[in-house]
Amino acid sequence: MSALVYKNLNSSPIVAVRGSGVWIEDASGKRYLDTCGGVAVSSLGHAHPRIVAAMEREARKIAWTHAGSFTTPAAEELAERLVAASNGLAKAQFLSGGSEVMELAMKIAYQYQCERGKPSKSIFIARRQGYHGSTLGTLAISGNPQRRSVFEPLLPRAEFVSPCYAYRHRRAGESDEQYAGRLAQELDDKIRTLGAENVAAFVAETVVGSTNGAVPPVPGYLKKIREVCERHDVLLLLDEVMAGMGRTGPVYAYLEDSVVPDLVAIGKGLAAGYQPIAAVLMSAAVHDAIAQGTGVLGNGQTHVNHPFACAVALEVQRTIEDDHLLDAVVVRGHQLRARLKERFANVEIVGDVRGRGLFVGVEFVEDRDSKAPYSGGATFAARLKREALQHGLLIYPGSATADGVEGNHVLFAPPFISSASEIDEMAERFEDIVRACMVREQPGASHAPAGLSTVFSR
Ligand code: PLP
Repeated sequence: MSALVYKNLNSSPIVAVRGSGVWIEDASGKRYLDTCGGVAVSSLGHAHPRIVAAMEREARKIAWTHAGSFTTPAAEELAERLVAASNGLAKAQFLSGGSEVMELAMKIAYQYQCERGKPSKSIFIARRQGYHGSTLGTLAISGNPQRRSVFEPLLPRAEFVSPCYAYRHRRAGESDEQYAGRLAQELDDKIRTLGAENVAAFVAETVVGSTNGAVPPVPGYLKKIREVCERHDVLLLLDEVMAGMGRTGPVYAYLEDSVVPDLVAIGKGLAAGYQPIAAVLMSAAVHDAIAQGTGVLGNGQTHVNHPFACAVALEVQRTIEDDHLLDAVVVRGHQLRARLKERFANVEIVGDVRGRGLFVGVEFVEDRDSKAPYSGGATFAARLKREALQHGLLIYPGSATADGVEGNHVLFAPPFISSASEIDEMAERFEDIVRACMVREQPGASHAPAGLSTVFSR
């Protein structure tokens, strides 16, 4: 009997004992091929020699210092590097996880409004079905009903508008530009209804991750949103906890959308899972309003700018640059989407294969014409996961994809170091898992699997 509290209180997870590259090994010696970097974290895979060496080296230097008294060369260089790649942001602060930095970003946004003498600007507008974290503040701005669930009564006020989800919400005959314009108008209307003098910031995931399965904005959407925010003196806070740090190709996903937010949060891939670290970056205007006002950030935590975590993250980011891994993300991302599209070309329940870079989503439907959410729902997602684990494949399924209640998807976020053959193998094995689950659900269906045993015997 374990003394640990697991995510699922009534079942035990697999005991992992080691990892190497894109593979994880359990206590029985069984190996798992990782298609999702855990949850879009593990961008360099496991036991990366350069990171292991850096961890040994850095551990000998210093473990921890208090940010109230000290800074370190690694934290300074990491912040400089992240700022330099941001196309216009000025400062960064590091905490331990995505929820923490999103919560910090909210606090900074509100403190900025207060420092400018506008304390009534306190409302955050986010998008339905988004996810921004597990603290009460970040959960309040998360539109996903599943994750809000039991905590709903505890959540402070937030307002919501539609997500940018072209596969489901772009109308027949509507261009990207018209669709983006319609959504920008919805935000504009929302701000006017609430009163711009009451709105602090608009919050969105640049590319939606866990709740919808790698849904990118249509071209022009974020630019139009940016204009609306500027018109109403509302900050733009982008959440790239999952989509940032090269996951979609560029260091920041928003670079592909030709906008620069006022604040951006990054996390998971920052240290590729070798340390728990995340960051919020802000514009000079936001920083300076506070610096020239009270001069003190109204948030303090023990692990601000953690020296060892910053040093490890710095080595991760240097490795990604030196090994040209962002180029690999683009190439392998195209490959993964192409393979998935080929393999599921005749599988009617795969409605959409989408994403950017190595951030790829597969959405399931009843049929491609109606796009009705696949009737298997969450049960199907759970079955996929079980089946995949049984056969040594790590996948990241999600449900409530279509509207916060129905539908499901699988999110691919493999390590940037995945080879061409590993990417092919991920697509091949995933096809077999999907077909096996379809068959079990619909015995006698015409899309019977071929050659499953060859894959499952690996
Ligand atoms: N924001 C986004 C977009 C996320 O996907 C997540 C986690 O999945 C978070 C915030 C919260 O990050 P963490 O789980 O590290 O607290």
